[in-house]
Amino acid sequence: VTEGPGADASEALTTLHRVFGYDAFRGEQEAIVEHVVAGGDALVLMPTGGGKSLCYQIPALVRPGTGVVVSPLIALMQDQVDALRALGVRAGFVNSTQDFDERRTVEAEFLAGELDLLYLAPERLRLDSTLDLLARGKISVFAIDEAHCVAQWGHDFRPDYLSLSLLGERWPDVPRIALTATATRATHQEITQRLGLPAARHFVASFDRPNIQYRIVPKADPRKQLLAFLREEHPGDAGIVYCLSRNSVERTAEFLSANGVEAVPYHAGLDAGTRAAHQSRFLREDGLVVVATIAFGMGIDKPDVRFVAHLDLPKSIEGYYQETGRAGRDGLPSTAWMAYGLNDVVQQRKLIQSGEGDEAFRRRAASHLDAMLALCETAGCRRGRLLAYFGQEPGAAACGNCDTCLTPPETWDGTVAAQKVLSTVVRLQRERGQKFGALQIVDILLGKRTAKVIQFDHDQLSVFGIGQDLAEGEWRGAIRQLLAQGLLAVEGEYGTLVLTEESGTVLRGEREVPLRKEPKKPAVSRSGSGS
Ligand code: ADP
Ligand code: ZN
Repeated sequence: VTEGPGADASEALTTLHRVFGYDAFRGEQEAIVEHVVAGGDALVLMPTGGGKSLCYQIPALVRPGTGVVVSPLIALMQDQVDALRALGVRAGFVNSTQDFDERRTVEAEFLAGELDLLYLAPERLRLDSTLDLLARGKISVFAIDEAHCVAQWGHDFRPDYLSLSLLGERWPDVPRIALTATATRATHQEITQRLGLPAARHFVASFDRPNIQYRIVPKADPRKQLLAFLREEHPGDAGIVYCLSRNSVERTAEFLSANGVEAVPYHAGLDAGTRAAHQSRFLREDGLVVVATIAFGMGIDKPDVRFVAHLDLPKSIEGYYQETGRAGRDGLPSTAWMAYGLNDVVQQRKLIQSGEGDEAFRRRAASHLDAMLALCETAGCRRGRLLAYFGQEPGAAACGNCDTCLTPPETWDGTVAAQKVLSTVVRLQRERGQKFGALQIVDILLGKRTAKVIQFDHDQLSVFGIGQDLAEGEWRGAIRQLLAQGLLAVEGEYGTLVLTEESGTVLRGEREVPLRKEPKKPAVSRSGSGS
């Protein structure tokens, strides 16, 4: 036992060497550990892979008693505990996957003071039996992992997290540390308020992941584009491909496998055994690709994920950042690649409108989506945009490691094109009382006599064929950007196009509409899953 000033600090460092075998703390870890060991509350905002675990594991080892870790990741508790035990840390967990005897054993160890760390699922803390158990033992620190789950508007909200404020009420002398990789300013506030941590010191690590290259490409034939990307840039590499639907997960995994890229599906519709098998293959094997819905990845610690690909648009920048953040935890160059197109915008806007939730919920969802769309459509540095979203100053105006920095997109004056699109929407509505989706609008602009154009006499409209100066892909790109900029909106289950309050300023020529140039290359297919 060491004594004198700084004793705790040196004990923390000794523990880091002795138990974990690391030479030094990383970044903010040292300050956080020191603060919590001394009994202070903390809110830790650190990107995925930043090293959050040590921030509570070391205080739990240094302070007398057991560190209680609240985590929603039940599936990972066994692995986490096994890993700690392998290091000689006395760790255990209590969750619904255990039988009565296993639970009794862990509880007895806790009461006997034989545990350094006890992992609990949040729903356990609603049970009086759990609270009584905790009251009969000695607790060194409470760690609340994935603390953003308390945020009601976030994408990972867990109602059980709301009851965690009682920890501070029942154990006012035990320090609490809340940790998350997801946090805008609004989320920080919600966490401190809902968890009852007004006096917690905030530790905010940099959210920049310089080894990740951000790329967002226009979507044409997403699976083929993905395959080309993997063959050219990541042959034989491990990675994650995110899709929105289970069906698209299955088909993409089959497509990759059939084309020589070993890939397995992962989504909540698969049985638990298959999911666990695919997850453990991903962790253990080299170069396996997991095609997944967002059900996959929370808490996954695989250092050499070389790419994360999105075939569909995430709902928010938080989601995008967290998912892409699973790439390159080892610090080596990695790619965050996304294919994004008109259909993504239409689909997400429709989802928000037809989805559950009240008006306020919809407005929140829409503003999350708007921020994500702005990131997709920006002609500026993507990294700069991301960091600004998280309230952080970018290190430089241009990072040099994102697609817009590497090949700056050209912009063009799309004012007239925008007016043509909007006028077509107006004509249909005013003259015919009709609303149509993007496909029909583009056909009218191009002057195509398709069956549907003939059926509705749309070749009689004065705007028929006024858009022959641009190619189909350029019109789709223009509509996508108008939607992203809020100059056009979608409505209803068919995703029909309607004007917004802002549209008038364009129609009256009161504003210019700069648009990003669409790359010439990808042939835009209208059938199948293209944009
Ligand atoms: P997070 O929970 O923030 O995503 P982890 O706590 O899982 O991150 O840590 C990510 C990786 O970094 C782990 O493999 C961990 O062992 C390693 N790590 C954390 N802190 C240090 C350190 N001080 N020195 C070396 N490796 C570290
Ligand atoms: Zn950049």
